[in-house]
Amino acid sequence: MDLTLLKTALADLGQPAYRAGQVWEWTARGATGYDAMTNLPAELRSALAERVPFSTLELVDQAESRDGTVKALFLTDDARPVEAVMMRYRDGRRSICVSSQSGCPLTCAFCATGTMAFGRNLTAWEIVDQALHFRRIEPIDHCVFMGMGEPMMNLDNVLAACDLLPEVGVTHRRTTVSTVGWLPGLKQFNAQDRPLRLALSLHSADPELRSEIMPVNDRYPLEDVLNACREQWHKTNRKVFVEYVMLGGVNDHTTHARKLAAALTPHEAFKVNLIPYNPTGTGFEGSGRTTIGAFRDRLQEAGVVATVRLTRGRDIAAACGQLVAEHAA
Ligand code: SAH
Repeated sequence: MDLTLLKTALADLGQPAYRAGQVWEWTARGATGYDAMTNLPAELRSALAERVPFSTLELVDQAESRDGTVKALFLTDDARPVEAVMMRYRDGRRSICVSSQSGCPLTCAFCATGTMAFGRNLTAWEIVDQALHFRRIEPIDHCVFMGMGEPMMNLDNVLAACDLLPEVGVTHRRTTVSTVGWLPGLKQFNAQDRPLRLALSLHSADPELRSEIMPVNDRYPLEDVLNACREQWHKTNRKVFVEYVMLGGVNDHTTHARKLAAALTPHEAFKVNLIPYNPTGTGFEGSGRTTIGAFRDRLQEAGVVATVRLTRGRDIAAACGQLVAEHAA
């Protein structure tokens, strides 16, 4: 819901300012429309329904995985595709994965999103509306900015969305912003004080190899990016999560693990998440389970905390790197 539009509409209708708060409270708690807002006069509810779309996004497709993961495909009002995912965990956690852009201008070689046309940055409302969609299904408590797009290229809107999320159920501490290492945004991120978690998509500690699979590496030197991560750790005393997608025969050798452990100093500043590669039709193959396990062991022997990320929603193409909005073509 576009809260700026809501406030303007309420002012036009001669309504007191507190009405905006009432509408937002209902919406943040998962109301499905203006009709549910019983402390608003019926006339006002229908006036709002005419003037302010209840969501900035239109749901066009939704799929549920065997593991309970839900993927939603939306269109913005200018017909840009946006995907978001909700993951359900056994311990009751409900984590949503939201997009910050329609498509992505970066072209990481293994990621499906990079193969679709880049649309534009999403507004804060369009980001929050992804969360609200899932909130209407059930309560949510974690959020990762790991959907389509590069959040650090759209940080103002990402932060504005983060500021609304606590009322939807997701505190700053349970919100993670993931980046390829887009340095200007990362510096802006370091300069703000919300206790958000930072994640870095690293995928290789070797600058040459990293440039091959992530062209953005040519733009912002890895050492500068890692320094910015160290700064964030110093400031917040919270580990920076390092994402490392395991590409068979590319970055999964023991020597790569050693290089990675050497690059991630001090070790306390980082925690590595090894991500099994999800098929995206980009010509890569995932490392086998044994290779991933051995890679993790090498890191741990070297003193780096490392876990293997559980793959969710692969059967509905909702897993990491698979968001490509293919139904919208
Ligand atoms: N642009 C930001 C936010 C997207 S996060 C970033 O890259 O950090 C999406 C994560 O999924 C990134 O770590 C990305 O590298 C990873 N990913 C991309 N393609 C993948 C694939 N095919 N299999 C597994 N992970 C993938």
